[in-house]
Amino acid sequence: MTASRTPPSASASRPRLEPSTRIQFLPGVGPVRARAYERLRLVTLEHLARHYPRDWLDASHFALVKDLVPGQLMTVVGEVKRAAALRTRGGRGDFVATISDGTGTLGCYFFGQAFLARTLVPGTRVVVSGEFDPVERRMQNPMFEVEGEDLATLLHAGRRVPVHGLGRGITAHGMRTAVSRALEAVADTIPDPVPAAVAAAHRLGPLGAALRAIHFPGSLAELEAARRRLAFEELFELQMVMELRRHVISQEGRGLAMTSSGGLAREVEAALPFTLTEDQRGAIADVAADLARTRPMHRLVVGDVGSGKTAVALLAAAHAIETAHQVAFMAPTEVLARQHATTLGRLTRGTRLEVATLTGSTPATQRRLLQARLLAGEPLLLVGTHALLEKKLQMPKLGLAIVDEQHRFGVRHRATLASKGVLPHVLVLTATPIPRTLQLACYGDLDVSLLRTRPAGRGRRVTRVTDEGKLPQVIEFMARELAAGRQAYVVVSAIEEGARAEIRAAESEVESLRAQPLLSRWRIGLLHGRLRTEEKLAVMDAFQKGELHVLVATTVIEVGVDVPNATLMVVQNAERFGLTQLHQLRGRVGRGEHRSVCVFVAGRAVPASGRERLAVMAGTDDGFELAEADLRMRGPGDLWGTRQAGLPSLKVADPWRDVSLLYEAREAAQAVVAADPRLADPAHAALRAALVANYREPLELALVG
Ligand code: ADP
Ligand code: MG
Repeated sequence: MTASRTPPSASASRPRLEPSTRIQFLPGVGPVRARAYERLRLVTLEHLARHYPRDWLDASHFALVKDLVPGQLMTVVGEVKRAAALRTRGGRGDFVATISDGTGTLGCYFFGQAFLARTLVPGTRVVVSGEFDPVERRMQNPMFEVEGEDLATLLHAGRRVPVHGLGRGITAHGMRTAVSRALEAVADTIPDPVPAAVAAAHRLGPLGAALRAIHFPGSLAELEAARRRLAFEELFELQMVMELRRHVISQEGRGLAMTSSGGLAREVEAALPFTLTEDQRGAIADVAADLARTRPMHRLVVGDVGSGKTAVALLAAAHAIETAHQVAFMAPTEVLARQHATTLGRLTRGTRLEVATLTGSTPATQRRLLQARLLAGEPLLLVGTHALLEKKLQMPKLGLAIVDEQHRFGVRHRATLASKGVLPHVLVLTATPIPRTLQLACYGDLDVSLLRTRPAGRGRRVTRVTDEGKLPQVIEFMARELAAGRQAYVVVSAIEEGARAEIRAAESEVESLRAQPLLSRWRIGLLHGRLRTEEKLAVMDAFQKGELHVLVATTVIEVGVDVPNATLMVVQNAERFGLTQLHQLRGRVGRGEHRSVCVFVAGRAVPASGRERLAVMAGTDDGFELAEADLRMRGPGDLWGTRQAGLPSLKVADPWRDVSLLYEAREAAQAVVAADPRLADPAHAALRAALVANYREPLELALVG
């Protein structure tokens, strides 16, 4: 840039643009447009610089009008010959221009963009990129840029053009211009969260260059290098969070060493009506070893629905209780908590292990009594909802907290549990299979025990995918199963969001099943989320006892039903469910000795891709394989797992594709935390600031106190 183009006086009169400067101060934006950016959570210039494109259109192939190849993205440089705004009914008016480059003329048609009449006046030289439509003999809505003095500065056409996420009140053109100006002003002054030593060790170039190249890459190689650089940064921050959490949570000496002889566990195990699987034994041994250490346990037991996680939890509790400690077992809903209490009470009958329950509906007198016993230090297995944590309940001898079906057990939760400076051990049970890669990305701070084998003595389970046209055959099959003494689930969903729509769908399903002559002998029940706890329990109980033969349900049955006699699961409009959700539903059957069948019914007009997805379900019964397939199919755009974990989703990194980068980032994070766990070193100041900005919640307490 020459001095004559930007006289010093001009820059002196304007406020200096910093990475933290608000977008409204960017030339050409102003307060009104800034609000449109804010709706996209783009507030500062750094946010703009980090608003990475979703895609890039390669419009770098220049051609003469006479050589245009139909259907290919090509760029023409020419002069506007004729231009006209066209009135359209209702709309904002279209705009049409004719461009000539001396070898021919090219029509350009812009839908709804009559305002271009002000820009593309005859005589203007323009660069136009688009696909030539040979039928209409024109380009429709091409990208364009009024030609400046230097083709190297093109932003909107004739290059690899970035496609940014947009919002109401922001055009693609406006966004690219704003991003480009933000980059020009601040790309080189944005503090780099990756410490210089780490960047050097992993051969990462400067941040500013990567930011420029991710938006406006000069070549594919440049784009890939920039993506890698920024992906590393994201993965590194994520791994820093994991390492810092691991550091605070798992400090040696902060936990209770609870070394049991295993006597109570053996007693409880002997009373179980089944033999533990190898995997269950392994998980219990993992836990017992963890409990005996002074480093607080934070272990995840991952196993499909029906894999027997409850028994693992029970024996873990037995180990803790034997050492005279209290155990809190928390379920996500009141219904589940009460079912767990019943099940655990039944399984421990006749043993020295005592199970107690505390839920929202426990009467006050009973609650007081329980509190008194807890205060006296009686070692109990207390079952309740997650609210056990929040309530003013005191458990002075709490040694182990077990959390069912809640992925993230936050640092804050642990702080709530911590009593007298000691952190209880935490065991989390989950049926959501986590792909290996994501496990590392999102759960790097947890130890994991897997339950991969299904308990023995269970019948085969097969999955069939069919469509609505085959419903009569499905009903016929259901009637045969019921006649053989079995039971069936039918799961429905609604197109619209919301419980009300789901209930209507479920009610109409009940009606249509009751109208089936083949099913007239059988009793059909209904279960949905709006029922009161007592009503839900009554329906489940009736199904359990065989008083109901068919249970029509919304997805509430995802949790909390265990009926080994149920051998048929029909899921209507199965395409509306995610693979992991379908897999969890499928886990409701195949719990008994009989062969069971799961039928996924695709609704009308389901596209081929939807059927393909369902076909994957029929292809494997392994939850881990499915989770990986799900991740592969949905791709990096929808990072299942990170959001559930309460972590911001990654913008450019894809733990699937970037797995080696992930390992590099992990190694780097481990080194940084080992050397400077408080991030007090000035060389880590930018990293600390970025972590606090991006990961405030998950990091709570890790960097303070
Ligand atoms: P989940 O992992 O979904 O929580 P549960 O703990 O509810 O699974 O167990 C599902 C069913 O399997 C229960 O009826 C339970 O009693 C039974 N079960 C658990 N472990 C075994 C085993 N080793 N052998 C046979 N049945 C088992
Ligand atoms: Mg369970």
